[in-house]
Amino acid sequence: MSTIKRIWAREILDSRGIPTVECYCQLDDGRFATASVPAGTSMGSHEALELRDKDATRYHGEGVLKAVENINSVLGPALSGLNPLEQAQIDQKLIELDGTENKSKYGANAILAVSIAICKVGATSQNKALYTWINELCTSLGMKPGVKLPTPLLNMINGGLHGAGNLDFQEFWMIPATNKSFSEGLRMGVEVYQTIGENLARRGAIHSVGHEGGYAPNLFTNADAFEVFVESVRQTNYSMGRDVFLGLDVAANSFYKDGEYQIRDRSSSLTDDQLLDYYKELVNNYKLAILEDAFHEDAWGSWKKLYNELAGTSIIVGDDLIVTNPKRIQKAIDEKACNCAVIKPNQIGTVFETLQVVKMVKEAGWKTLTSHRSGETNDTFIADFAVGIASDYAKFGAPARGERVAKYNRLSAIEIELSYFK
Ligand code: PEP
Ligand code: MG
Repeated sequence: MSTIKRIWAREILDSRGIPTVECYCQLDDGRFATASVPAGTSMGSHEALELRDKDATRYHGEGVLKAVENINSVLGPALSGLNPLEQAQIDQKLIELDGTENKSKYGANAILAVSIAICKVGATSQNKALYTWINELCTSLGMKPGVKLPTPLLNMINGGLHGAGNLDFQEFWMIPATNKSFSEGLRMGVEVYQTIGENLARRGAIHSVGHEGGYAPNLFTNADAFEVFVESVRQTNYSMGRDVFLGLDVAANSFYKDGEYQIRDRSSSLTDDQLLDYYKELVNNYKLAILEDAFHEDAWGSWKKLYNELAGTSIIVGDDLIVTNPKRIQKAIDEKACNCAVIKPNQIGTVFETLQVVKMVKEAGWKTLTSHRSGETNDTFIADFAVGIASDYAKFGAPARGERVAKYNRLSAIEIELSYFK
């Protein structure tokens, strides 16, 4: 049995040019793995704590040297000599060492970097694909998910905190029909993405791309973005509502102010009920298939109304509402607030806790949507994770930009690998 010899970390940059943590784990047999953690821009306030140095003389206070030091001097040495295959025990040890509810002592960024590095080196030490090992960890929890490729939610247009300030809604996705293979869906996404780019250019509306690689156009309203989306799909060989669907992460926290929601499509602010009516229009006009974070993260009553009115036609996804946190997910299950969970390991802080959350939402009959963050590295752990847990959906941003396509390309590789075993 190989054991952990050394764990160490360093500060690297994410796709936004903001520091993040990279962790190395070496076994006594010489094998090693690296893991780097992502970070959000539109973070829910109930997420585990991402430790930043707050030293204004470096990276505007965003440095992660304290988190790195926590790995190098505390977390790493504490795991030396342990069996890397004992993911549950190792993650539990990390949780106990930290000892806080939200991992604020050592930082969820430090703890997750270690946890993922252990998971990766565990797979390596057994000569197993990472998704196979993650799947076996699911089995150890009593789940029997099989392995499967998720349906990709491909980000086409960015607004909100990810965009250039022109649109309120954060992510406009093209969703391929679930009967398409992963590679077909990805190709469709690329074709629609490029057609949207041409149409925006024709209108003189391309401003830049957002954090996730979707276009951040200088359109006037969110409705303009829907129109460009529909027009572009029409110019391809695909038909809306049959081959291709529209999905949204509206990330409502970011346009919520003083108890109301301000969007460019309306001259005055909307109450929760008025915003719900607006969503109903979107469902009627565009067959909106998936809707994430439709209301503020603590607006439980509005989430329940949304669920009652739209869960029959659209998938209602919680992200900032539930933050991959078992307590908030239990509340959402009890209150019937949504029927799909965004799964983001860094919202909770260890691999094993994330798997426990997956088990919980699957047992509740919800769908799973495995997600990257807006600040990413080229680490592809999340792609293997999505396959290993048999996630229904995955969102890794636009089918463009290195840190996004790294994950889609990893899914393509897994698709080919799995086809050999059919
Ligand atoms: C999201 O809100 O789903 C998202 C990926 O954005 P961020 O990483 O900025 O929270
Ligand atoms: Mg979200």
